Amino acid sequence: NAKKASKSSVQFYSQELKEASQRIIELENALQSAITNHEFELFLQPMLDLTSGTILKAEALLRWNRLDGERIGPDEFIPIAEQTGLIVPIGKWVISRACEMISTLNHRGYSCKLSVNLSPRQISDRHLLEFIRGSIQNSHILPNQLELELTEGVLVDNYDKVQYLLTEVRKLGVSVSIDDFGTGYSSLSYLKKLPIDHIKIDRSFVQDLVSDENDKAIILAIIAMAHSLKLNVIAEGVETELQRNFLQLNHCNLAQGYLFSRPLPFAQFCDYLSASPTQKLITPSAPF
Ligand code: C2E
Ligand code: MG
Ligand code: MG
Ligand code: MG
Repeated sequence: NAKKASKSSVQFYSQELKEASQRIIELENALQSAITNHEFELFLQPMLDLTSGTILKAEALLRWNRLDGERIGPDEFIPIAEQTGLIVPIGKWVISRACEMISTLNHRGYSCKLSVNLSPRQISDRHLLEFIRGSIQNSHILPNQLELELTEGVLVDNYDKVQYLLTEVRKLGVSVSIDDFGTGYSSLSYLKKLPIDHIKIDRSFVQDLVSDENDKAIILAIIAMAHSLKLNVIAEGVETELQRNFLQLNHCNLAQGYLFSRPLPFAQFCDYLSASPTQKLITPSAPF
């Protein structure tokens, strides 16, 4: 009987595995034509200055709306895009769309910055730097309105390429954030060696920060270290007033999370900006 049960569980798992790999193959194929079919959309999630409440920037987060109506989250399709190399053209689409959005915001009088996520494969693309430069020029935005988010994993795996890329984008005026800080297996030495502007504290530390003394201690240590290295700190995944108050009291610079807003489609993000009482408008003399 035991033998029978173990046999059927093997069949069960292999059926599941088969379905999972069929799904991956299906998504891989569908991803090939997703750009030309206009299936991608960039959502924007605001990041607020904790002292003034001003929306200083927003993170661009990719959404895939398939033609059949299915919506697939980045956690499912980014790894597939990364493995197949499709992340390179998709990532270019993200960068140029983000620059277009910045330009539209400028024309409406808002000086909001946008950050885009970069994955490891994109760093190895020799044309990335030229592409970023060209996108900024074509959309007539200021380079310092664009930011790049890289995870610690990206830094470790491609150290030399990352160092070159970051040095060059910095020369352009583009700034750089370390995303999901504290979750990677990297040494801290890169913080002093690489040209970095901001650190984003991973959501997992923010989640239980009010009840968990260890999370509190880690967050305080990250803020202190970042500030002594002259880096700004952004907290991700802020969902409650208690979290916000703790972060503000302890001099975290910016916050992003559902407490303020979920990632929004562009039109709704513009409504959110215009409804914000403290939103700074660009002075007419600004060069746009
Ligand atoms: P990430 O860069 O760390 O982005 C933050 C994620 O946290 C987003 O998930 C966002 O919706 C979510 N989030 C923000 N505030 C809260 C909150 O208060 N509570 C909770 N529970 N979640 C919150 P999303 O949009 O599903 O993106 C997941 C990941 O996919 C991103 O993590 C990023 O690593 C990747 N990703 C998204 N867009 C792109 C892209 O254009 N290119 C690349 N390479 N990766 C992307
Ligand atoms: Mg990010
Ligand atoms: Mg993050
Ligand atoms: Mg994350």
